[in-house]
Amino acid sequence: MENRYQAFLLKYAEIGVKGKNRYVFEEALEKQVRIHLRRTDAEFEVRRINGRIYCEALSGYDYDRVISELKKIFGVVGICPVNHVPDKSIEGIKAAAVKFVGENYPDKNFTFKVDTRRANKAYPKTSMEVDADVGEALLDAYPEMKVDVHKPEVLIHIELREQIFLYSKIIKGAGGLPLGTNGRALLLLSGGFDSPVAGYMVSRRGVYLDAVYFNAPPYTSDRAKQKVIDLARVLSSYTGSIRLHIINFTEIQMAIYERCPHDELTIIMRRYMMRIAEAIANDSKECLGLVTGESIGQVASQTLRSLFTTDEAVSIPVYRPLIGFDKQDIIDKAEEIGTADISVLPFEDCCTIFVAKHPVTKPRLNVIKDSEEKLSDISGELINRALASDEAMDIW
Ligand code: ATP
Ligand code: MG
Repeated sequence: MENRYQAFLLKYAEIGVKGKNRYVFEEALEKQVRIHLRRTDAEFEVRRINGRIYCEALSGYDYDRVISELKKIFGVVGICPVNHVPDKSIEGIKAAAVKFVGENYPDKNFTFKVDTRRANKAYPKTSMEVDADVGEALLDAYPEMKVDVHKPEVLIHIELREQIFLYSKIIKGAGGLPLGTNGRALLLLSGGFDSPVAGYMVSRRGVYLDAVYFNAPPYTSDRAKQKVIDLARVLSSYTGSIRLHIINFTEIQMAIYERCPHDELTIIMRRYMMRIAEAIANDSKECLGLVTGESIGQVASQTLRSLFTTDEAVSIPVYRPLIGFDKQDIIDKAEEIGTADISVLPFEDCCTIFVAKHPVTKPRLNVIKDSEEKLSDISGELINRALASDEAMDIW
């Protein structure tokens, strides 16, 4: 297979400012790059050079597949497809640049600037001389092109190293921080749009994920469960393997339904979900927080007072990365990361069946606690049985 680019140069930003941790971050990033490139079925040599990661193709590859994998790596801010310049003389660089522009820019009516980095200090010309020589060669070859040193439309990068690289395209990466640099958290994953996006946002800051889904058979179907598994699979293409806990929540829901006021069902259910999630997180010894997809005011159970009441049930930190997002922003993000097509499927999750017509929007903590008292004789037992029902699976 013939590929136009011999390599991909990956740029990262935030890592640069992390002082002593820099080494840890770069190691973690390099590891992720290798994992993702392995999924492309092509062979690459990955190495770190001066604050970038350089991936050289050793075999043919599928360009779209490689780019799609590289865009999933947290910590990468830019992906540059690179051409090698085989003849390292200045004449060779000029010829390569002319060919490069010829092939990549059919319409030559644009402004440009050449930007040379001279990492190889033994190169016989200075970077400014190379800029000038290559710029002149391009203007000679393509008179429609114009130089603009301040705001060029196209920046042609030349890097003088043991090899010489030529590139102009910088594809936006996922940003964030490399996986494995910030521990692990437990995502409460339901079938909707919100929680997968919430998991993505937290993981993007370098956090590995476990997940928990509460299902309520026979009120919720196997298809609803499969939907959550499918969502976890899409997420795992960014976050790495996810341990998904599936908890049978039916008995708890029924007990709440029988004993508690119906307008408080949702909020009490949410408190039980949090308690069980906290127990799973503590049991794993690694998860240092819970993650949910709530945003202020989106539904009755997400008013500030509801969130206050929900949080009171647990002492582990609860992270809500979508707290200030509008629904449309969340859906847009879900589309971008590829979970929207699954989230849109109409299978009920456990909460839609037991929802009251008029749920409380301003639950008073003491009122909710009084209602929960009605479950006090069975509460511990219910939680233990739910935990024992855990069907855990590793998704990747
Ligand atoms: P989503 O789009 O994630 O389903 P939602 O808008 O439906 O969220 P709620 O049903 O109020 O909102 O749930 C709020 C959050 O609680 C969800 O984002 C999710 O983190 C968690 N959650 C709700 N139901 C479940 C469930 N059955 N299993 C696991 N987590 C759940
Ligand atoms: Mg939901």
